Amino acid sequence: PFSDLAQQFFSPILKNSPPEQQPPQDQSCISRTQKASYQKKSPSPVPSPYLLSKLRDYKRRHKNCEPFSEPFNTTLKLLTGNSTTNSTESDCRYVVFTLHVNGLGNRMLGISSAFLYALLTDRVLLVDFGPDMADIFCEPLQNSTWLLPDGFPFRNQFYSPQFREAHSFGTLLRDNNNFTQSVLPLPPPILHLFLSYEYGDYDKLFYRDENQEFLQSIPWLTLRSDQYFVPYLFLMPRFRAELERLFPDKETVFHHLGNYLFNPSNQAWGLITRFYDAYLARADERIGLQVRVFNTKASPIPLVAKQLLKCTQSEGILPQLQVSTNSSFSSVKVTNNTSSTKTKAVLIGSLYREFYEEMKYEYWTRASVDGGGESVGVHQASHEESQNSESNSHNMKALADIYLLSLCDVLVTSRWSTFGYVAQAIGRVKPWILNVPNTNYSGDRLPERACRRAVSMEPCFHYPPSYDMKKKVVVDGEVGTGPPVVHCEDVSWGLKLV
Ligand code: GDP
Repeated sequence: PFSDLAQQFFSPILKNSPPEQQPPQDQSCISRTQKASYQKKSPSPVPSPYLLSKLRDYKRRHKNCEPFSEPFNTTLKLLTGNSTTNSTESDCRYVVFTLHVNGLGNRMLGISSAFLYALLTDRVLLVDFGPDMADIFCEPLQNSTWLLPDGFPFRNQFYSPQFREAHSFGTLLRDNNNFTQSVLPLPPPILHLFLSYEYGDYDKLFYRDENQEFLQSIPWLTLRSDQYFVPYLFLMPRFRAELERLFPDKETVFHHLGNYLFNPSNQAWGLITRFYDAYLARADERIGLQVRVFNTKASPIPLVAKQLLKCTQSEGILPQLQVSTNSSFSSVKVTNNTSSTKTKAVLIGSLYREFYEEMKYEYWTRASVDGGGESVGVHQASHEESQNSESNSHNMKALADIYLLSLCDVLVTSRWSTFGYVAQAIGRVKPWILNVPNTNYSGDRLPERACRRAVSMEPCFHYPPSYDMKKKVVVDGEVGTGPPVVHCEDVSWGLKLV
């Protein structure tokens, strides 16, 4: 029989097997089995045998240590002061992912990084999801939960500066002279790893190899991050060899982690498949245009729309259009053979409706230069107008857009956007990165280069510890870049895997 793990990764193979050999569908998480038939790009990357065995071990560990299990309850007592054992003796150790404030892309990057850290350090990942994240994803493991139980000690303090001050690893290092003296403090039962973009110099010392030894002894690590810090783990000698074994292909790290962790819930999967089947499935080619405008004042929408058209046409993603002459609409083109017309379905992923309107209008009112060999249909699933990450239905639509974009054959993403990173990595598409114009730098003119091809489909780690937030410089000599870790195309000091 197929294990659910193999099924999660090998469902393209399962899909082609005779019906009687197919495993029964997990009705509680339909995307787990259906996903592969939508992700039809082939060949699907196969995870390394070592990664599969590591995930099997993880599953056992998670099951053994899951919330309300005996080892969980015992480890919990270390926090409530009712324990008779000391913290270094506990059977189960945890990483609790905590992040409420950011958008879904940032959260997914943080969660996948925390999970990889848990894999590398034999911990169990639990997530602190509020109502805004309820029912967006399936549980990664059937018949178990990754949700931090209600009433977990400190839960309502996770986001306060006092919690960071009292429990963070950075504070401990600061108060103990960076552990440079010979006497190490006694390991506390809980430590907070503050690894979000605005972290401080002491927090960054998490990335020092020698500090990892100490962290091993802490049963409860809470981890807050909005970053994809995986590339930096590859730079740490402690983890490098293990990571090389786990991921012989560095470009698919997020793809594998994301595939394992993020199965859309049945509700989210309904949003994705109904839209896909109705608007995208029958096209010869699907083109996803993800347009993220961080500041509509600095990047006015009409200017961004122009840049988007320029990128898609100059890179041959969409047909070039005739320049209109005296009449504003192009007339019909006489063609002999309409059956050879190739259909391109364009999916716009954006908070705003204007890009959809503009693109649709352009391809409706103007004929293409080459005389109509391609027909272009433009679609958009939602346009929420503003980011509202505290809303469950908003986040559900965001996940639907991320997944729909991931199902496209060609992608244009926006620089700096983690939303785009997740779509490209799940979909295994090397995107064109749109150079979103910013009038503060370029005035009303469009920057010369509209977009450029990404060197890999991996997400970018925006704020590695080598970047000094205050001085806005990369601290020299700290990071030796070179494959598999290089600087990002869209964030010059960022790091990504290739
Ligand atoms: P980033 O800010 O671009 O790095 O991406 P995040 O996902 O972290 O935050 C942006 C948030 O804005 C998303 O999570 C959504 O809530 C919302 N958003 C941005 N772009 C889109 C989009 O194209 N579609 C939808 N539905 N929501 C979007």
